[in-house]
Amino acid sequence: MPELPEVETTRRGILPHIQGLRVQQVIVRQPKLRWPVSPELVQLAGEPLRDIARRGKYLLFSFDRGIVLAHLGMSGSLRILESEKPADAHDHLDWVFENGITLRYHDPRRFGAWLWWDGESTGHPLLESLGPEPLEPDFTAQYLYRTSRGRKVPVKSFVMNSHVVVGVGNIYANEALFSAGISPLRAAGRISLERYQRLVESIRKILEDSIRQGGTTLRDFVGGDGKPGYFQQTLQVYGRAGAPCLKCGESLCEIRLGQRTTVFCKVCQT
Ligand SMILES: [Zn+2]
Repeated sequence: MPELPEVETTRRGILPHIQGLRVQQVIVRQPKLRWPVSPELVQLAGEPLRDIARRGKYLLFSFDRGIVLAHLGMSGSLRILESEKPADAHDHLDWVFENGITLRYHDPRRFGAWLWWDGESTGHPLLESLGPEPLEPDFTAQYLYRTSRGRKVPVKSFVMNSHVVVGVGNIYANEALFSAGISPLRAAGRISLERYQRLVESIRKILEDSIRQGGTTLRDFVGGDGKPGYFQQTLQVYGRAGAPCLKCGESLCEIRLGQRTTVFCKVCQT
């Protein structure tokens, strides 16, 4: 599933090729995605694409009349084509810009979304209740500490809740909690400010490292078959259940928590 780093790398990969260009045509081959593709999209012909921003895992394509909210769902990807190329069965949508430059949306599982919104960019129902961005200054230890007081929910579920903070997917939550030495099972409301400081730093570091690694794949966004894959990361705990902890040598254990695979060290994480 594309996670925040993949979505951010997609944004950086496609933006320089299409920013400022006028839309010539929007071709919708399959409107049945997670929600139906908004019919307003085809009316954007003639409009220049001003910018692409990101909020959580949503990409926001801004036009003078409003924004297009895109989500890559479970299996979506975007790529730039510099010349015409036949679409395959999972190429559901094309943005054709001037000079024939095309942004093509590919999504085998069709859980993505393309939605028109002409209100305030932060006011869309899918966006307005989202928590802060993990790489922005308002995501702080003080914020997590204050928000978590009185909450009995396990800290792993707490930081994976997009109303608390966006973009901390399962793998990142496992890795960040290991790095910070915090048990995933500990009640969010029972964690000190000092430990939240370590957790905030760990979350930032793993997301930034992942985006940095993704930067090396930017050229994959242009061309024939370039489908950006998921970033290869060096993982300390995820996928290593039963193997020795890299800090203390104890076997890592695996449990299900909120239906998600959770791997941790009982010695190092308390
Ligand atoms: Zn350990």
